[in-house]
Amino acid sequence: MTSTWTPQSWNDRPAAQQPEWPDASELAGALDELRKLPPLVFAGEARRLTNSLARAAHGEAFVLQAGECAEAFGEFSADDIRDKLKIILQMAIVLTYGAGLPVVKIGRIAGQFAKPRSSPTESANGQSLPSFRGHAVNDAIFDAEARRADPKRMVRAYHQSAATLNLLRAFTKGGFADLRQIHVWNQEFVANSPQGQRYEQIARQIDRSMRFMAACGVDLSRDPVLHEVDFYTSHEALLLPFEEALTRKDSITGEWYCCSAHMLWVGERTRQLDGAHLEFLSGVRNPIACKLGPGATTEEVVEICERIDPERVPGRLTLIARMGSALVEEKLPPLIQAARGTGRAPLWICDPMHGNTFTTKSGLKSRRFEDILGEIKGFFSVHAQEGTVPGGVHLELTNEDVTECLGGGAGN
Ligand code: PEP
Repeated sequence: MTSTWTPQSWNDRPAAQQPEWPDASELAGALDELRKLPPLVFAGEARRLTNSLARAAHGEAFVLQAGECAEAFGEFSADDIRDKLKIILQMAIVLTYGAGLPVVKIGRIAGQFAKPRSSPTESANGQSLPSFRGHAVNDAIFDAEARRADPKRMVRAYHQSAATLNLLRAFTKGGFADLRQIHVWNQEFVANSPQGQRYEQIARQIDRSMRFMAACGVDLSRDPVLHEVDFYTSHEALLLPFEEALTRKDSITGEWYCCSAHMLWVGERTRQLDGAHLEFLSGVRNPIACKLGPGATTEEVVEICERIDPERVPGRLTLIARMGSALVEEKLPPLIQAARGTGRAPLWICDPMHGNTFTTKSGLKSRRFEDILGEIKGFFSVHAQEGTVPGGVHLELTNEDVTECLGGGAGN
């Protein structure tokens, strides 16, 4: 954080991937409204997450950060939110059982409404229009009005995030996340697959262990860790006017927190050292993550460490490697060495999705399951070689049957 940092100081730097808002007064009106709305998360929750991430950085926990590529205004119902949570809880229980470690659960949810784009415009039928940048900005329909950046969408994204968070809090603290519900988390479309059946086996073993403990006299009903789950939210801090409008001073510590999510990350396309995104994120006290693709240099990693974590706060900085399965073993080791050379132990997690994307013949973006698995294996083997901690995974996943991943359980 620079000595001149304020929630607005990012405005003095180039901000990549920002939409062109056509009407400045409409934008000012929407931001004014956002500034008056209550925070979505609280500083104390963000601090609790920082502590959990610090444990993961030391190998005492494992992070599962997961959720949709982007949330949509049209896919928003209680069932939808429950199913997204279900799949994360299901994965978390498998990881906890397999690794014997607590799993820190972080959703790409309740705020993941904006996406970076490879081109600011898209052409079809001889027409060129602004690219679709996520529902917080415009609509996917290829039509001039739908593609116009509309600041009122940021207010709608806020309200959808608030309602989503409300339900997530109710589900995770109100009984749905109870370990005794473990069978209910098996998704219908997974349940009959070999993976779903393996999950059922684990669930039955956990049931048996709980019955054994109860038979030994342990009063399981009294221990909240068996009935409640800590669940955190995260998204890419892409739309800086939105993030600034939700930045508040914590009344307890007097420090600034971006109250749009517990954890924020800076993406591969917006992590320029002199850019607005790193400037903004360097001054808020939430745990911050930074994506690192195969083009990341050791100098950049050192500078990101210094800028985001000058005080060397355990859990403050997460580095998300997304190298691609073919490059992870070559590109990751020097970056790990560079970060270690600064005297810090940042949390390293693996995003095996965004470095393995390819476009299918029909123009759809997809990934192969074997590449995803290959990158995760490569990530673990590099950390074993370096004597560092592979602290978690960052996954795009969905409860729906999609084409964005090919192979795996269903084989298509
Ligand atoms: C994302 O996580 O949605 C994303 C676009 O990732 P990256 O910045 O790594 O490309």
